[in-house]
Amino acid sequence: MEVKIAGRMSQIKPSPTLAITAKAKALKAQGVDVVGFGAGEPDFDTPEHIKEAAVKALKEGFTKYTPVPGIDELRQAVADQLARDYGLEYAKEEIIVSCGAKHSLYNIAMVLLEPGDEVIIPSPYWVTYPAQVYIAEATPVIVETLDGNDFKLTPEQLEEAITPMTKALILNYPSNPTGASYTKEELEKLAEVALKHDIWVISDEIYDKIIYDGFQHVPFATLSPEVKENTLLVNGVSKTYSMTGWRIGWVAGNRDVVAAMNKLQSQSTSNPTSMAQSAALAALQGPQDCVAEMVKAFQERRDYIVQRFNSMEGVSCFNPSGAFYVFPSFAGLYGRRYGDRVIQSSLDFADYLLNEFKVAIVPGVAFGEDKGARLSYATSMENIKKGLDRIEEAISQLK
Ligand SMILES: *Cc1c(COP(=O)(O)O)cnc(C)c1O
Repeated sequence: MEVKIAGRMSQIKPSPTLAITAKAKALKAQGVDVVGFGAGEPDFDTPEHIKEAAVKALKEGFTKYTPVPGIDELRQAVADQLARDYGLEYAKEEIIVSCGAKHSLYNIAMVLLEPGDEVIIPSPYWVTYPAQVYIAEATPVIVETLDGNDFKLTPEQLEEAITPMTKALILNYPSNPTGASYTKEELEKLAEVALKHDIWVISDEIYDKIIYDGFQHVPFATLSPEVKENTLLVNGVSKTYSMTGWRIGWVAGNRDVVAAMNKLQSQSTSNPTSMAQSAALAALQGPQDCVAEMVKAFQERRDYIVQRFNSMEGVSCFNPSGAFYVFPSFAGLYGRRYGDRVIQSSLDFADYLLNEFKVAIVPGVAFGEDKGARLSYATSMENIKKGLDRIEEAISQLK
């Protein structure tokens, strides 16, 4: 039989990072000492009390279908956390739990977007956003943010990108891949533009608890009751509680949108895994000091990595206020050579580091910004030091 894959799949590009990740893995398997900065997840284990809650659920036979949008207790716990931490009030009917925040975002795209709709996505962006917009047969509109503005979308840029076809803005702060975040004042100006044009704001705040230097995370929905009505707040347990494998995420927002997501979920995945919901409930209701400990370790690493990069000739590194990534610019090195090859792009530089110095980074082109690259510091300080020594040596050998 001739295999004919549906046309919508042709819009989704295989990630340009896959080649480099695969190569790094292959080298590691051969026993080569590769330093990896690719991790998109915390390097800490899921806290013990959370695992125990899942074990208990299993032992007690909590192994069957649950309500499609998640158990009532978990939806209530999400509402309670938003109320406690940010003063946000949501009814249970305004919250739906899905199989990871990526799934939440996917469901939003499927229930809101139609062919012809435009979705504004600031770059550098998390690669999943444009891919999901394509799957929904809508059109991503990429707006380039600048290093000079700390990778933040300005209200002027937003205004300029909006057309009659604009359906939504996807905002992600603290950001993957840059770690950039917004102050309340900056958010208010963006909200003003979004409200004026009556567009949805899909606010991916999955890194809200991973913030540094006392930075205050301001959920978009807190800006005003009108803004809250137009905001779909996305979050989950993956990053905050080192629970990427458990697959629990959620959306808080407009009840009609949530009801549509519920309907879609009922005919696709049904409920998120029962015992993972029990674990997420323990995460939200249990002690939060595990989060503070993790953030403290991340902050030490961030301080170190930013200072090292900024001391390297030809490199500049923006100091992120959250998440666990840095996105240094290596553009100052483009045009330099090693042997008979010239470094002309983020992919060239990443290739050079991996081939010659056994360091794996993710080239910025994967996130729509070729000047830089993403390094995750969700890896030990020892690895970070070793990797940065190698990068420094690699740069010194360029002519
Ligand atoms: C990790 C991540 C997510 C989602 O993670 P899930 O494991 O699917 O909950 C969403 N957005 C960004 C920007 C991320 O980095």
